[in-house]
Amino acid sequence: MQVTFYGVRGSMPAPGPTTVRYGGNTSCVHLRLNSGQNVVLDAGTGIRMLGNRLADADEPILLLLSHGHWDHIQGYPFFAPIYQPGREIVICQGVEGNAASLQALIRQMDGSSFPVHAKELPSQVSTIQEVQTFLDNQAFRTRRLNLNHPGGGYAYRIEEDGVSIAYITDNELEPPNVPQTSYPDWVDFCRDVDLLIHDAQYTSEDMPAKHGWGHSLISQVQQLASDAHVKNVAFYHHDPDRSDSDLDEISTGTAGYFQTAGGLVTPWVAAEGLSLDIRRRQDPNVNTVQQV
Ligand SMILES: [Zn+2]
Ligand SMILES: [Zn+2]
Repeated sequence: MQVTFYGVRGSMPAPGPTTVRYGGNTSCVHLRLNSGQNVVLDAGTGIRMLGNRLADADEPILLLLSHGHWDHIQGYPFFAPIYQPGREIVICQGVEGNAASLQALIRQMDGSSFPVHAKELPSQVSTIQEVQTFLDNQAFRTRRLNLNHPGGGYAYRIEEDGVSIAYITDNELEPPNVPQTSYPDWVDFCRDVDLLIHDAQYTSEDMPAKHGWGHSLISQVQQLASDAHVKNVAFYHHDPDRSDSDLDEISTGTAGYFQTAGGLVTPWVAAEGLSLDIRRRQDPNVNTVQQV
């Protein structure tokens, strides 16, 4: 499985001279499965660059949305494959029942916010209502869990050929109210994954002002990665005010934390263009994760 980050920023795009290295685009991650299937996690502005790459081919695309906030849908009208005649694109909504994120994704192409209407697209876009049933019938395994985030949403755990990742963004691990998902359940959900991608928008200086806003502290994600015995953790959904040098500091801090904790977890600070190849290894039974 190859995991590539196309947008790592939270809340809103943050282009400019202070974010050149980590990138200013909002949430989007591409999974290239061993089967050749393309799975796209979220449609923030990062999906534009991914779309330009995927438009060279004609394989089906599966888009899994965490939820419908702007920073997770705003790139969709600029996703080149939706303009490819006959290109098959399947979109799974984030919140079952009320289809809120799906409506948010499509509504931005109603002719007023964007000139092209969703109904005019030449691609074959289909939307799935019974998401879990659909996912249960795929060649790869997917589990979902409710996010602790205003308006709700889903985290995804995806496994293929003995390799596993968890994608958890816009999630507050210790919210002030009763959580949708408790901390022990998050530990269970992430247990032993090869790569955990988790929202780490805040530092301790952001608190208590932003407690309850639906995002996690870097220190909380460090703790989760340790408690769940993940192999790698990618700190993701960076605050738009976080500069490259701030993120360098965070990188040094997290490396020190995990080294002191025994060196069992490899930390990454997600950056646009970071691509990780995750391969199964039978012996010594530890999968390899390599930057490519
Ligand atoms: Zn977000
Ligand atoms: Zn959100």
